[in-house]
Amino acid sequence: MPPSLPVSANAPLNADLHSHSVVSDGTLTPEDMAARAHAAGVQLWALTDHDEVGGVPRARAAADALGLPFVAGVEISVSFAGQTVHVVGLGVDEHDATLGAALARNRGGREPRARAMAAVFDRLGITNTYDGALAHVGNPELISRTHFARHLVERGVCRDMNDAFRKYLGDGKVAHVATPWAGLGEALGWIHGAGGVAVVAHPARYRFSPTVEYALFSEFTAHGGRGVEVVTGSHTAAEVVRYADLAREFGLAASRGSDFHGPGESRVELGALPALASDLTPVWQLLDAARPLS
Ligand code: AMP
Ligand code: MN
Ligand code: MN
Ligand code: MN
Repeated sequence: MPPSLPVSANAPLNADLHSHSVVSDGTLTPEDMAARAHAAGVQLWALTDHDEVGGVPRARAAADALGLPFVAGVEISVSFAGQTVHVVGLGVDEHDATLGAALARNRGGREPRARAMAAVFDRLGITNTYDGALAHVGNPELISRTHFARHLVERGVCRDMNDAFRKYLGDGKVAHVATPWAGLGEALGWIHGAGGVAVVAHPARYRFSPTVEYALFSEFTAHGGRGVEVVTGSHTAAEVVRYADLAREFGLAASRGSDFHGPGESRVELGALPALASDLTPVWQLLDAARPLS
């Protein structure tokens, strides 16, 4: 069990429940992430690597040593209505065998997809991008578009990460190769089977029509999903308001997380986010780590 939280139930908590390490597409080790979160004043921290819980024991050990309350997390890639949706699982048991096998299966599409992306770059005359991206990878099963973007920037092909996604890697762009991820119901089943709470990540980043967005949240709640990220590093102030309303409409708890990937790459520092509106139910009230508060 993590240490008890240091504040009362009514005080705003500096929770950061979305972040990445080198175990997926971040640039810091789980230990360095724990130290950085602690130094930044984070009071409840989750590591949520993409499709992988391998960094969780290291992150927890480092957080425990610092007295930083920790939540085991994962960000699962899901295919929904022809797009990729990210679902964060919080409070999962990282030793759950079904979750482990399912995440391994979800990761399995990454290597062939990365090779197909490199083949597109070859055709564009930008060669050896697979090996170039691989040089940035901390976990060989977790090669992602982020690693290609870092390689393109390092090579001078793109000005910065955003440029790489805008020109080549973003959804529907020339070097984006779609891969089938888990189904929504499957991913929620794995999270729930591992004792976790499911949260829709950065909802404003999807390009859904209002009807399809409504279908996403309807299906998500029907499958037992409990939360939505209202405050995230990629939401504008207007988007925070919009998804606070959506949380109220669907009766979802609200999450808060930076989606920090590393120094110099992320829009916001760990924990450096606005507070959740006080009438929302913070998702950490649903987690084991928050039980001492209730
Ligand atoms: P993948 O899981 O391989 O499809 O890669 C998705 C990852 O790309 C996300 O988790 C983000 O870290 C990163 N990403 C997506 N869009 C951008 C962007 N515009 N700038 C920087 N990183 C991005
Ligand atoms: Mn990422
Ligand atoms: Mn994401
Ligand atoms: Mn993320």
